[in-house]
Amino acid sequence: LTTISDEARIALDTVTGRAAGLFRPSIRLGVTGLSRAGKTVFISALVHNLVHGGRLPLFEAQKTGRIARAFLEEQPDDAVPRFQYEDHVAALVDQRIWPDSTRAISELRLTIEFESASGWNRMFSAGRLSVDIVDYPGEWLLDLPLLGKSYAEFSDEAFELTTLPVRADLARDWRALSATVTPDSDADEITARRLAESFSAYLKACKLDERALSTLPPGRFLMPGDLEGSPALTFAPLPGVSATRGRPGSLHAMMERRYEAYKTHVVKPFFREHIARLDRQIVLIDAMQALNAGPAAMADLERAVTEILACFRPGRGNFLTDWFARRIDRILIAATKADHLHHESHDRLQAIVRRLADRAIAKASFTGAAVDVVAMAAVRATREGTVKQAGEILPVIIGTPLEGERIGDETFDGTTETAIFPGDLPKSADAVFDERPASEKESIEPAIRFVRFRPPKLERTAEGITLSLPHIRLDRALQFLIGDRLA
Ligand code: GDP
Repeated sequence: LTTISDEARIALDTVTGRAAGLFRPSIRLGVTGLSRAGKTVFISALVHNLVHGGRLPLFEAQKTGRIARAFLEEQPDDAVPRFQYEDHVAALVDQRIWPDSTRAISELRLTIEFESASGWNRMFSAGRLSVDIVDYPGEWLLDLPLLGKSYAEFSDEAFELTTLPVRADLARDWRALSATVTPDSDADEITARRLAESFSAYLKACKLDERALSTLPPGRFLMPGDLEGSPALTFAPLPGVSATRGRPGSLHAMMERRYEAYKTHVVKPFFREHIARLDRQIVLIDAMQALNAGPAAMADLERAVTEILACFRPGRGNFLTDWFARRIDRILIAATKADHLHHESHDRLQAIVRRLADRAIAKASFTGAAVDVVAMAAVRATREGTVKQAGEILPVIIGTPLEGERIGDETFDGTTETAIFPGDLPKSADAVFDERPASEKESIEPAIRFVRFRPPKLERTAEGITLSLPHIRLDRALQFLIGDRLA
């Protein structure tokens, strides 16, 4: 699976990286999650809060006043696009709109100057840590299992998944088209393209559908990055190709060759050049959306988290994975957008995420890195209040719903602040993962009421200085991810 040059390159990279690290301590933090999970917002808020000395009481170095300053520096990798921090912050703060989401890999270097807490460290360390933040689509990460799969296995699994009730109708057109082709027929570009387009439409439909399904590989079909329209993406699974190899010149052989080319030229270099060098990882998940969409979406999210964790598990017999799996020592699974709930529900959300993570850890037989979970909001778009209704005092969240959002008959115009009953999460995480048939279990309806809000209006001090972006538990995430390196 791997060539000597992969190993040599990574080893050399690590040695030179470590040598440089002796003089300039640095840490590479991977930020991933499926599309719309909140990666862009998370990175923007993290950097904004550090650079502007935000309120981060659970981030020990900041709380104890040991951070002298944090600032952006030129990133070490010239070939990787820079994370467009300034544009994203301008969108969030000045225009109060959500920034453009992650579509490909990007990077940003944040350097923190600090005073070490221990006298020993103060004597020997420079008191400077560079955090190289690497933002990349989770869809690309989920390509990793393909490295260990033949084209026949990939095809079989893809068709098998379409038999799940939650996916069957979305896959109907693609399945119907696939049924009309004979894998052993002569290779033909037009057929290959039609199949690839139809397969990719199905993958996209899974993502866009309100069932909020997570992702199937190949990741670039959903997030093509700079491969948009490229021949490397013109393949699709074929039915009934298990256990055989394609006859030379057949459609089957053509698809198989392209599948292998995708692995060699797209998947492997991505892992070798980017993922293999990470030290820490945060995986963002949109648990709110999945909870809102129902049990099938939660099960699907669990499957995605299992697959993501499996990517970080050492000992899969693949050099590339082993390398980075051993290197990464902390993984944080973070449910963002907790600002859609009243704070009374934040612990419930966290308990649900913990249960989800525990189940995923067990299913993926995950060992190695320390895994923690958090329910957070990188940017808090709401504040809390109470409303009196029929003599009862009820907790509400107050924010400006995005233009076009609706609750019942009401459609919002994007300018009006509104109080909303966020609804409740189930008291116990058990209810969410209850696998008994619907008729036998406690109903977890009514679900949370989910409207999207505009980013918050930032407060200004008397001197006109804009305060940093408000958040929920971003500091807890930071402490887990980099706190020990500032000790
Ligand atoms: P990405 O695809 O992972 O980069 O996702 P984004 O960071 O672009 O987030 C997708 C959308 O989720 C945003 O446009 C927001 O609508 C919403 N979002 C992300 N993070 C938060 C958050 O902390 N609070 C709220 N209220 N919404 C968020």
